[in-house]
Amino acid sequence: MKFATLAVHAGQRPDAHTGAVNVAVSLTSTFQMDGIGELRNGFEYARSDNPSRRALETSLATLEGGKHALCFASGQAASTAILDLLEPENEIVTTANIYGGTYRLFHKVYNKYGITVRVADETTPESIQNALSNKTTLVWTESPSNPLLTLLDLAETAERIKGFKNGKGEKPLLVVDNTFPSPAFQNPLALGADIVSHSCTKYIGGHSDVIGGAIVVNDETLWQKLKFYQNAGGAVQAPMDCYLLQRGLRTLPLRMKKHEENAYRVAEFLRGNPHVKEVFFPGFEDFPNHQLVAKQMKGLPGIVSFKIRGSLVSVERFFAGLQLFILAESLGGVESLLCHPASMTHAALPESERQKIGITDNLIRLSMGIEDADDLIDDLRNSLNCCFGTAPKYTT
Ligand SMILES: *Cc1c(COP(=O)(O)O)cnc(C)c1O
Repeated sequence: MKFATLAVHAGQRPDAHTGAVNVAVSLTSTFQMDGIGELRNGFEYARSDNPSRRALETSLATLEGGKHALCFASGQAASTAILDLLEPENEIVTTANIYGGTYRLFHKVYNKYGITVRVADETTPESIQNALSNKTTLVWTESPSNPLLTLLDLAETAERIKGFKNGKGEKPLLVVDNTFPSPAFQNPLALGADIVSHSCTKYIGGHSDVIGGAIVVNDETLWQKLKFYQNAGGAVQAPMDCYLLQRGLRTLPLRMKKHEENAYRVAEFLRGNPHVKEVFFPGFEDFPNHQLVAKQMKGLPGIVSFKIRGSLVSVERFFAGLQLFILAESLGGVESLLCHPASMTHAALPESERQKIGITDNLIRLSMGIEDADDLIDDLRNSLNCCFGTAPKYTT
């Protein structure tokens, strides 16, 4: 079946006993047993597994084209379970443009267990390959990256890692944080990734009303290991949140199309605006590695980043003039949001590191909602004009 059909039906068939069309919110912490060691329906204790989470995990695995999914209380909890696979002296190879919270987890949490991070010089498969060492057990990437939307050839990266063996004779695992494209627009397992991670808080939930995370894998042994850490650590997705995510998933394909359409419209508008210095949008033909959009993606998420011609003061004035876009962390919801990466999502990075990767004070990241693009453009135009003094200020 096609993606839109699976989004509605995978893991979500009517209840066998009651006929209820929706998967029930399983509000129980434990399950009656039939005898010692005899589980009635495969469930024992809700942290380990429960019907609400199993349904969501089935949906997500299917939509990502994987065999198994595991759902967590947040994207960070999912990342934590992946990092639990590591041992002291192991090394993670990563690219410079990754989510600030992932950077923090690497450098401020797992480093104390003797886990090191090597950042590839450039976001290219060659550069990642060159960074591999006999200590490398994980390669962690994002494409398009947060917030500059840098594209990385995932199939080529997987190919270059494939032939490599670390000191223990193992191939490093390729992790792709697929939050930005969502399962609707990119499926890294099919491109050779070993682990796909998601912040379900973003496009999968899609309504800015729930925090969640997921991991999707194909390999049976890897799944068993991650499931062990999920249960041992216990940062699992609660049943009510599973229901919200399941509801979000059903409209994912529809929403992604609208987010994408709005992103194209807004990116074009920004590129033509004299107050805008630079626009980052992979849909532009002159965007670095633009050909990868057609090669490995089915569409683009509704994210557009740009730099205005001005300092932090102008950025603040621009924010104050907006009526529709809401200044807030996060992305991927039905409402348009904007954020200031230097002080928000990427505040965990030292200033020098931020400058190096282009997260300057005049950088703004937009997350397009599903509103009418004309209204979004009007809002941006009005505020840019107002901020740079070429139109009357708002009176409200
Ligand atoms: C938000 C985000 C995360 C973290 O997810 P939470 O659900 O906030 O814990 C990880 N990676 C990316 C790319 C994100 O945007």
